[in-house]
Amino acid sequence: MNTYGRLPVTFVKGEGVWLWDDQGNKYLDALAGVAVNGLGHAHPGLVRAISEQVGRLIHVSNIYRIAEQERLADRLCEIAGMDRVFLCNSGCEANEAAIKLARLYGHGKGIESPAIIVMDKSFHGRTMATLSATGNRKVQAGFEPLVPGFVRVPFDDLDAVRHVAQHNPAVVAVLVEPVQGEGGINIPKDGAAYLQGLREICDQNGWLLMLDEVQTGVARTGTWFAFQHTGIQPDVMSLAKGLGSGVPIGACLARGIAAGVFTPGKHGSTFGGNPLACAAALATLEAIEAENLLAHAEQLGDWIRQALLDALEGVAGVVTVRNSGLMLGIELDRPCADLVKLALAAGLLINVTAETVVRLLPPLVMRSDEAKQLVDRLAPLIKNFLSQ
Ligand SMILES: *Cc1c(COP(=O)(O)O)cnc(C)c1O
Repeated sequence: MNTYGRLPVTFVKGEGVWLWDDQGNKYLDALAGVAVNGLGHAHPGLVRAISEQVGRLIHVSNIYRIAEQERLADRLCEIAGMDRVFLCNSGCEANEAAIKLARLYGHGKGIESPAIIVMDKSFHGRTMATLSATGNRKVQAGFEPLVPGFVRVPFDDLDAVRHVAQHNPAVVAVLVEPVQGEGGINIPKDGAAYLQGLREICDQNGWLLMLDEVQTGVARTGTWFAFQHTGIQPDVMSLAKGLGSGVPIGACLARGIAAGVFTPGKHGSTFGGNPLACAAALATLEAIEAENLLAHAEQLGDWIRQALLDALEGVAGVVTVRNSGLMLGIELDRPCADLVKLALAAGLLINVTAETVVRLLPPLVMRSDEAKQLVDRLAPLIKNFLSQ
């Protein structure tokens, strides 16, 4: 169906951070399938793991025990400090699981109509519940009636959350992205203090702190998960995008009291956590560790930000360049969606979100010479665009 305004290009193969189209043109990929292809394209270890798994077993059913799923769940819990995992196929499904979990938790406390605090400019997906949670009218318009049970507050505003705590006894959870992705690479201004403050408010009120790490998770910000920059631990966390390197998989992790909320029959998925998807995720986590990509993502992201700042210094129209690891945003003073096409024509894949923010989500495996090429290609495009 006509759900995407597509760019006129067809990619036929990839290797590392490079893609080739059907005309033989080569592109530097600074978007990674929107934070999915963390290992770049055709990563040998990933290809081997997936190929072997396809030859052995693709799918059975969650009616049975699945060894690959148990291994993945153990590994995810280990690196995240969580207790249990529900596996699904996408980010919105991971958030659906979190929303259902929060409601069930609320009903368990005798709250008939539980509510979840969500943020302005957030993005949680395109299903009915997750678009209702999303803080963007464009995502919601035309799909009313929305799912009720969400209370919206500004992002990065602890006082607004405290205010809700005083006035709304139906609240059972907070759902928040540690860094807002679709909303424009919005990073809390006082760093760790925001999540720490939310953790405190949740503890005081018996709420679940639920982090949507669909975009920030799996090494993107330079730690396995973005909350690990803050010293706090969430009760619930959703993952997807980078988890399976392109093989669809999502995960909803829970800890403590939240981990015991679902019981058999309360939630499920036909495909979720099948052997193929789990093998892809296990291989992804293994490669991230073996290739030391956490530290690399942090260092390279900071390097790219500084290089862009240097290259764009004094250029009128550049508002800020910000990053958390390899989640980078260049905010301009005007809508800049046209930059995507200009970059494509120059052999560079980027994205624009929130109308005025150039978003870069490069593969975690990008090398420093490739990062230099990215800056060398992008900075002149932005300068040219702003000078017109
Ligand atoms: C992409 C995204 C989603 C939705 O994931 P899908 O796999 O497209 O359903 C949810 N939350 C965040 C933060 C995202 O970036």
